[in-house]
Amino acid sequence: MPAPCPLPAAIDPDEVFLAEVRAFLAEALTPDLREAGRRTLGVHSDIAACKLWHRRLHRRGWIAPGWPVAHGGAGWSPRERFLFDRECALNDAPVLFAGGIRSLGPLIIEMGTPLQRARYLPAILSGDDLWAQGFSEPGAGSDLARVATRAVQAGDRYIVDGSKIWTTGAHLSNRMFALVRTSTGDRPQQGLTFLLLDMATPGLTVSPIITIDGEHELNQVFFDQVSVPVANRIGEEGQGWAVAKRLMQLARSNNTPAALVRRVYQRARNAALATEDLEPGLMARLITAEIELTAFEQTELNLLPGGRLRDGDATSPSVLKLIGSELHQRVAELAMEIAGTARGIALEPFRDEDGPLADGARATAKHFATRAASIYSGSSETQRNVIAQAFQAGIR
Ligand SMILES: Cc1cc2nc3c(=O)[nH]c(=O)nc-3n(C[C@H](O)[C@H](O)[C@H](O)COP(=O)(O)OP(=O)(O)OC[C@H]3O[C@@H](n4cnc5c(N)ncnc54)[C@H](O)[C@@H]3O)c2cc1C
Repeated sequence: MPAPCPLPAAIDPDEVFLAEVRAFLAEALTPDLREAGRRTLGVHSDIAACKLWHRRLHRRGWIAPGWPVAHGGAGWSPRERFLFDRECALNDAPVLFAGGIRSLGPLIIEMGTPLQRARYLPAILSGDDLWAQGFSEPGAGSDLARVATRAVQAGDRYIVDGSKIWTTGAHLSNRMFALVRTSTGDRPQQGLTFLLLDMATPGLTVSPIITIDGEHELNQVFFDQVSVPVANRIGEEGQGWAVAKRLMQLARSNNTPAALVRRVYQRARNAALATEDLEPGLMARLITAEIELTAFEQTELNLLPGGRLRDGDATSPSVLKLIGSELHQRVAELAMEIAGTARGIALEPFRDEDGPLADGARATAKHFATRAASIYSGSSETQRNVIAQAFQAGIR
């Protein structure tokens, strides 16, 4: 009797996808870009490296993994997006300055006019336009509806006066989206309008805010009679609250992706394995972190837009933001402690030096930088309020 033909081995689609990604990264992620990725302390890598990496991803057609193909995206499934992000993180790819890709672009696809899509999406994809987020004000943070920056319509323009604060990368951006007040109503959420601005408009000035670590990521932005075309409004006048809420959902969905946490975790793990007499307590915490991170990765796969569970659930972005940012903080703190055990935790010098001391100091700086993760894009208390209110209202 002839021997039965062996069945062809099942092809694992993840492996096929990863092989393509790895081949691209091996070529496009040059040593200088990997070094910029490794040195990232704040919310994005060195801006020159960000721009270069953005352009390479754009040329490959992979700069907007979650956007529909019809709008220039890769059209990947949540699982492909997850695998790609993780592979980039494990290979020290630069962390992009890409609010346009992550939140404004998807918002314009959903809520913009055909003209706005045609005008703004190509420059977001190419990286020619970098967008800052102008929501927070000196008197409006968690209570964002208290926005007081005024926009008064004059013909086909709005004239904007006021100021925005904590604006990440305003000094690097050529455009800004902003929530402004066009009228007052019974509730503060009424009378808000969502505008797209050109940062080069006369009357708009950017003033740096230098944080305690000596870094310049944040700014205050002032508007003095800044003229904005009415055509740059997203949604109807006075309906800006709904637009801003949607923007925040999009932003929170990928504000702290699991890949960002895995990046820090991996470094902590490598340092722990290279340390001969690591405190047993630190190893136990590392194992706990691995378990929590794996659980978060599964949660992300479930809750990402288009994911396995609850597509379109209003609370999923807050769940992802809350778990991701707090886990990021715990892992960064652990990385600092592991580096400290072996090498001391001096903060300086780390910018221009390599070697163990610089690694330890960077871990310390990263720990301090992640403290802000539970504040920006809405504090942890804000996320808990969103989730609790949805439960109370019986949404879930
Ligand atoms: C690094 C960084 C980058 C940022 N980038 C940007 C940006 O690019 N664009 C932008 O628009 N904004 C940005 N922000 C601002 C950020 O969104 C606000 O800091 C945040 O929303 C909190 O507002 P606040 O600072 O005014 O604090 P507050 O609102 O005054 O809150 C102070 C404290 O009170 C708590 N609290 C407030 N209200 C409640 C409540 N109802 N229930 C329970 N607790 C409450 C808060 O959780 C917080 O702990 C950034 C902030 C940081 C730190």
